[in-house]
Amino acid sequence: MNDVVQGVAARVFPTPITKLKGVGPRLAERLANLNLHSVEDLLFHLPFRYEDRTRLVPIGTLRPGDHAVIQGNVELNQIKFGKRRMLLVHVSDGSGMLLLRFFHFNAQQQQLLARGVSVRCFGEIRRGQKSIEMIHPEYRVITEPAQIPQVDEHLTPVYPTTEQLHQLSMRQLTQQALQWLNEGRLQLQECLPQAVLQEMQFVDLVSALVYLHRPPPDVSHELLETRRHPMQLRLAFEELLAQAVSLRQRRLRAHRDQARGLNVAGDYSGQLLAQLPFVLTAAQQRVWQEIRVDLARAEPMQRLVQGDVGSGKTIVAVLAALQAIEAGYQVAMMAPTELLAEQHYQNVLRWLAPLSISIAWLSGKLKGKARQQTCAEIAQGQVQLVVGTHALFQDDVEFATLALVIIDEQHRFGVHQRLALREKGVRDQLHPHQLIMTATPIPRTLAMTIYADLDVSVIDELPPGRKPVETVAIPDARRAQVVQRVAQACRQGRQIYWVCSLIEESEVLQCQAAEDTAGQLTEALPQVRVGLLHGRLSNEIKERVMQQFKSHAIDLLVATTVVEVGVDVPNASLMIIENAERFGLAQLHQLRGRVGRGSHDSVCVLLYHGNLSTLARARIKAMRETNDGFEIARRDLEIRGPGEMLGIKQTGMMQLRVADLRQHQALLPAVNRWADKLLRESPQLAEGLVQRWIGAGTRFADV
Ligand code: ADP
Ligand code: MG
Repeated sequence: MNDVVQGVAARVFPTPITKLKGVGPRLAERLANLNLHSVEDLLFHLPFRYEDRTRLVPIGTLRPGDHAVIQGNVELNQIKFGKRRMLLVHVSDGSGMLLLRFFHFNAQQQQLLARGVSVRCFGEIRRGQKSIEMIHPEYRVITEPAQIPQVDEHLTPVYPTTEQLHQLSMRQLTQQALQWLNEGRLQLQECLPQAVLQEMQFVDLVSALVYLHRPPPDVSHELLETRRHPMQLRLAFEELLAQAVSLRQRRLRAHRDQARGLNVAGDYSGQLLAQLPFVLTAAQQRVWQEIRVDLARAEPMQRLVQGDVGSGKTIVAVLAALQAIEAGYQVAMMAPTELLAEQHYQNVLRWLAPLSISIAWLSGKLKGKARQQTCAEIAQGQVQLVVGTHALFQDDVEFATLALVIIDEQHRFGVHQRLALREKGVRDQLHPHQLIMTATPIPRTLAMTIYADLDVSVIDELPPGRKPVETVAIPDARRAQVVQRVAQACRQGRQIYWVCSLIEESEVLQCQAAEDTAGQLTEALPQVRVGLLHGRLSNEIKERVMQQFKSHAIDLLVATTVVEVGVDVPNASLMIIENAERFGLAQLHQLRGRVGRGSHDSVCVLLYHGNLSTLARARIKAMRETNDGFEIARRDLEIRGPGEMLGIKQTGMMQLRVADLRQHQALLPAVNRWADKLLRESPQLAEGLVQRWIGAGTRFADV
C-alpha cells in the first residue's frame, strides 16, 4: 500500500545565494569555498557549537573554559610593560573579580575602560595567575544606566567558516535566510513522509532548522553538544536516509548495467581445490557459492566479502578469478600495499602453477621497458590474471577483456579508485564484475547503511585449529623480560614479529626506529636471526626478507606497520607491538592477526610507554578481552566512531554534514527500513532527499 507519499515533491530549484542582501561576487566566492551556493545550502549549514549570551553570569560562579557574558565595574586599569606591552583591566561585579587582558589596544580603548565605568563582556574564561581572566573579550561600555542592553534571546550560533568569512557575516546571512523562511519567501520541501515524522516523533523540517540556527535559552546544552537533541536527530535522520537512498539507487543502477555472464564447468576450480593442502571451511564454501551465482549472471556483481583477519579470503578470491579465466576473460586483483600485492602474487603463482595460467605483476615500482612489456601483454589479452597495487588503474593500463576486478582490503582505497577500476573494464557497454574484500568487520546495521550499494557476504568462521591469541600488556620498563620471551619462542622453533612505531607520521623516522630496534635486538639476542622490513627498503630487499621469513631463514622480523595487512606466515606465534598505546584498535587487531595462524599457541605483547590515556586503556582492554573482529569493531565504534574506523572521511565514501555515525547509530535500523520503503513507494521524495543532501556529490558515483 502506498502509505508513504504525502505532499508530492516538485523539483524545487535552489535560490542563488547572491540573492541575499550583501552577497556580492567576492563574498559569494568565499561562501562557495564552503560549498554554499544557494540560500538552501546556507540553511543546512548548521552551527557546530553555540555560545550562551542569553543571561548574565555572576563572575564568582565562572570556571575556566566557560564562555559567558558578564557585567561589572572597572576597578583598575593599567598598562603593563615588559616583554609584551598589555592593557590589564580589573572588573568586579560583587560576586568576584575578573581580569581582562588586551595585547592589542589603543589609547582610546584605555580611556574608555576607565575606572568606575560599567562594562559588559563576552569571552572565554581562562585561569590566570591571580584570578580568572578573559583575553580580548568582546566588550561594550555601558554609559547610560537607563540603556542597559538586552541579553540575547537565543543562543549564539558559531558556524564552521573559513578565515576570510567572519562569524558575524555568517550570522547575518543565516538571519536573512531564516527571515525569508519565516515570511514564506523561501520554501523548503518536506522530504520526510508524515509517517516517518510520526513514528520517530520528529518535528517538521523548518521548525528543526530554525531551532538549530537560533536555539532558545532553555535548551539543554548537553544534548546540543552531544548532537543528541531531538532537532538534531531529526536532521541527522534525514541526512542518513538520503545517504542510504543514494547508495541503494547506485546499486539499482549498477544492476541495470550489463556484464558478461561467466558460465563455466568449473574445471579450473576443481583442479585447484584438489591440490590445496586444506579444505574450504563451510563459510568459504558458502561465500564462494554466492559469488559463483553472481558471476554467472549478465549483470555486474558488486559484492563485498567481509571476513576477519585470517578467515581465508584470498583463496575465495582466487576461485572467483578462475571462473572468469576459465570463461576466457581477464582478471585484475588489486591490493593496497606492495607487500601485500607481492604476497598475493606469490600465492597465485604457487596455487595456479599446475593450471598454466598467464599471470602478471604490476606495481608503481615496475618501470620502463618491463612496464611497457607487461602493459602490452595486458592490452593484447595474453595476460589472464594481473596482480598489483593501484598502479593497475593508471591511464596507460588497458585491458583486452577485463571481466572481474578484485579489490583486497578495500577500506584502504577510495570509492573513486574503486569506480575508476570498474570503468577500466567497460567495453561494448559491458561492465566488469567486482569483488571487494575487507578485514574490517563492522556491525551489521552499519554495514547495511554504508555498503548499501554492495551485496555483502560474510566469512564468519576461521579455518579449523586456530587458537585465540593471548594478549598481554606490558610496560616498557619490563622490556628485558619481553626480549627473553622472544629468545624462548625462538628456541622452541617459533617465529616472531616485532612491530615498531613512532608518534611521528614521518616514514623516515619510523624506519629509523625499526633499524635501531633491529640493531639492539641483534646485539641482545646473538643466537637469533633478525630481519628488518620497512617501507624505505627497495622492493627486491623487501621481497627477499619476506621470503626469508616465510622459509624460516629469519626468526625475528623487526618491521614497521607494513606488516599490518595480509602478511601470512603460519609459524609466527609471537608478536610484540611497541608503543601499542599509539595504535587504533582496528590496526592493533590487524597486526595481531599476523599470529595465531598456525596450530601453535600464540601471544601478542602490547608494549606500552608511560601512563596510558583513558582511550588507550580502553583499546588495550578490548584487545585483551576479545579476538573476535566483530566485537573489536563494535568496541572501536564506541571508542572512536566509525568515521575514523572505516576511513570514511578520507575515502569520501560518506561525507556527513549533520549526522555522526557514532552518535546516531541508533537511528540506522529505521533509516535502512525507510530507505527501502521510500524507494519503493515514493521515488520523488527519495529523489528530493538525494538532491538536497548529496546533490552533485553523487555524480562521481555514476562515472
Ligand atoms: P585473510 O582472510 O586474512 O586474507 P588469508 O586468505 O591470508 O586470510 O588466509 C590465511 C591463511 O589461512 C593462509 O595461510 C591460507 O592459506 C589459510 N587458509 C585459508 N583457508 C583455509 C582453510 N579452509 N583451512 C586451512 N587454512 C586455510
Ligand atoms: Mg587478506
